[in-house]
Amino acid sequence: MLALGKLLELTLSGHEPAEKTQVTVKGVRLRWLAEGALEVCPAEPAHCGLDLMLSAGIHGHETAPVELLERLLHGIASGTLIPRVRVLFLFGNPAAIRAGKPFIERDANRLFSGRHAQSSGVEALRVAELEQIARGFFSLPGRSRLHYDLHTTVRGSVFERFAVYPFQPGRAHSRRELARLASAGVQAVLLQDKPSATFSAFTYEQLGAEAFTLELGQVHVSAQRQTAIVDAWQAWLACLIEATQPPHDDSLDGVQLFSVAREIVKYSDNFRLHVPADIAHFTELSPGLLLAEDLAGTRWVVEEEGARLLFPDPKARNGSTAGLLVVPDAGQRLG
Ligand code: ZN
Repeated sequence: MLALGKLLELTLSGHEPAEKTQVTVKGVRLRWLAEGALEVCPAEPAHCGLDLMLSAGIHGHETAPVELLERLLHGIASGTLIPRVRVLFLFGNPAAIRAGKPFIERDANRLFSGRHAQSSGVEALRVAELEQIARGFFSLPGRSRLHYDLHTTVRGSVFERFAVYPFQPGRAHSRRELARLASAGVQAVLLQDKPSATFSAFTYEQLGAEAFTLELGQVHVSAQRQTAIVDAWQAWLACLIEATQPPHDDSLDGVQLFSVAREIVKYSDNFRLHVPADIAHFTELSPGLLLAEDLAGTRWVVEEEGARLLFPDPKARNGSTAGLLVVPDAGQRLG
C-alpha cells in the first residue's frame, strides 16, 4: 500500500511523510496537507461534483470513527475502493487521539468559528489549523460541499444513530440531505436554531457546506460492537465515495426530527443534575420533573410535552451548556 494510505500511522507517530503526493495504481491522487489531513482526488470524477469532507477524532477517545476513516483510506490506497468524488480525510485532534482522551486542555468541538482566538493551548492551535484546512478544501467554485464530522457516544441513546444539523439565519435545512441520512439508518436529527462553535457548524455557517455532527452509535461496550458499527458505516460511506449510492427519494421515514426547547446552563459548582449520571441520550422526561438546579434558586423543571434530554454533561465548565432539552419538530421549515 502507498505510504500516504497509512495516514493514521503517520499521525500517531507525528511524522511528516517524505513524499507529500502519491498516485495509486488506479490514478487516484493522494495529497498530504498537514498533520492528519489527506486530500483524495479521483481519476474519473463523477458528475455530481461532490467535495466530501470526513473528519474523525475531534474527541480523541472516540476510536470507531478513526478506525472507519482508516479503513476507507486503506481501501483507496490499495485500489479496492475507487473514489469518484473529491474527499478530505481529517483526523481532528491528533494529540488527544495519541493520548486516548477526549481532549488535552479544552473540548475542541466548542472552539470553532473563531472561538479558538479567545483560548490557548493544543486544541486552540489545532482548531485554527482545521479551519484553514477546511477553508482550502471547500474553496473550489461550483461544487457541492458535504461534511460529516463523525463521533460516537459513550452513554446509550434511545436513537442509536443520530445527527446534529447546524443553523444559519435565513437558510433552510435540506430535506434532501436529511433523506440521505435516513438511507444510512439515522433515526433522529436535532435541527439547531442558533449558531454554535462545533466543527460542523463552522463548515455549514462559514463555508457553505451541508454539514452534520454524526453520532455513529454507542461504543465502549465491546470490541465486536465497535466492529459492527464500523462495518455498517464503511459500506454506506464507500458508496458515497464511489458515487454509487442508490438514488434516494425525499422520504424521511424512520427519522424523527427535534429542535431545542431550552438549553440547560451550568452557572456554578453548585449545579446538580437530578437524573442518573448515565441517562441515555433522548430519554423522554415527564412534565413537572425537576431536571436540574443551580445556585440562587435556579431550577429547570420540565414543562414541554414530549421533552427529551440530549448531551447531559454535569461536568461542563461553569457558564457553558450542561444539556439540551429537545422537543419533536414537525419539519415544516425544511427546504
Ligand atoms: Zn464526540
